[in-house]
Amino acid sequence: MTMFTYDGLPGRVVFGAGVARERLLGEVDLLGARRVLVIAGDTESEIATRLCAPFADRVAATFTQVRPHVPVEVAELARKASSEADADLVLSVGGGSTTGTAKAVALTTGLPVLAVPTTYAGSEVTPVWGMTDRGRKTTGTDRRVLPKTVVYDAELTVTLPVDLSVASGLNAVAHCVEAFWAPRRSPVASAMAEDGIRHLVAGLTTVTGDPTGPVGRGELLLGAYLAGSAFAVAGSGLHHKICHVLGGAFDLPHAQTHAIVLPHVLAYNAPHATEACARIARALGRTDIVTALRELGAGLGVPPDLRALGLNESDIDTVLAEIVAIAPPDNPTPVTEEGLRTILHAAWAGTDPMGPTP
Ligand code: NAD
Repeated sequence: MTMFTYDGLPGRVVFGAGVARERLLGEVDLLGARRVLVIAGDTESEIATRLCAPFADRVAATFTQVRPHVPVEVAELARKASSEADADLVLSVGGGSTTGTAKAVALTTGLPVLAVPTTYAGSEVTPVWGMTDRGRKTTGTDRRVLPKTVVYDAELTVTLPVDLSVASGLNAVAHCVEAFWAPRRSPVASAMAEDGIRHLVAGLTTVTGDPTGPVGRGELLLGAYLAGSAFAVAGSGLHHKICHVLGGAFDLPHAQTHAIVLPHVLAYNAPHATEACARIARALGRTDIVTALRELGAGLGVPPDLRALGLNESDIDTVLAEIVAIAPPDNPTPVTEEGLRTILHAAWAGTDPMGPTP
């Protein structure tokens, strides 16, 4: 008998090509905003200016000093801009770093956020905030930071370079795969995750060949929304714990680490996650799902193993205990140091997790 607790998240979503251009003013009106603080990073501010032109008289201030991973100093400056402008709405136009800056303002002011994402990060549908203080990242969950409205417009993402598109798209695939066994998994999260994988894979393979085509961009953005939504309600599982520890300890590139590790965690969990595997297979249109994920990464230019990212073999043993300590206790296959060593060693060497043990 299935058992779960599903804590649904509120939020209005407007999705479609051109909707930011056509409907943003209406969405600002719906939130009753008269004094808007616009947050957009350097490369995103041109898009923001264009989108805000129909209600320029209501833009009380524009904050462009966005930095990756929201340094606390930047959060303070954005909050100051909000209070000086006497803002009643925070409008973020940009990627995860920009959405994160808007969330930092909402966290202390309680102001509503209207998010217009321009990447595939997915932060706009989660109640998770993150900030860094002297290089150390702190995260938390607070419903005040969850955007009230999200306007998804694939037209805004056509300028996102292919490598950044692949990076955030693969990250979103990992959110979907983990949603099947993450601590707060539910049939709702699984439904979003399965469909998310389908759209993301279609989008990733299309966008690399046709970066400015609307079809691939639309698929990726829809997949990103579903992946973010699945992650928001299901939480993160073993795969994310591994990548978080590896990334923090050895400064490995985020998206590539995810893409390399994911097939190995999937192979580890597969014997005890048959329903998840069946759904992933349905989404990928293939039964050899571990191989399919490896081929997806390789086709998108992901290096074959963690060794290629600069990880030393001797580094593996130094992080085992830390990962085991934070691994979800209900991971489909119980997480032991030995099991983890096998995963990490295979990911480091690029061994086929479905092949014979070397
Ligand atoms: P990002 O926001 O840092 O953007 C990457 C780069 O792309 C930036 O230089 C940006 O200016 C540029 N860019 C954005 N949109 C563009 C466009 N349409 N055209 C051209 N350039 C564009 O990166 P990201 O991957 O979107 O977000 C990563 C951040 O989001 C990380 O800090 C991550 O931790 C966070 N995140 C948070 C959550 C959450 O739930 N809180 C979820 C996912 C990611």
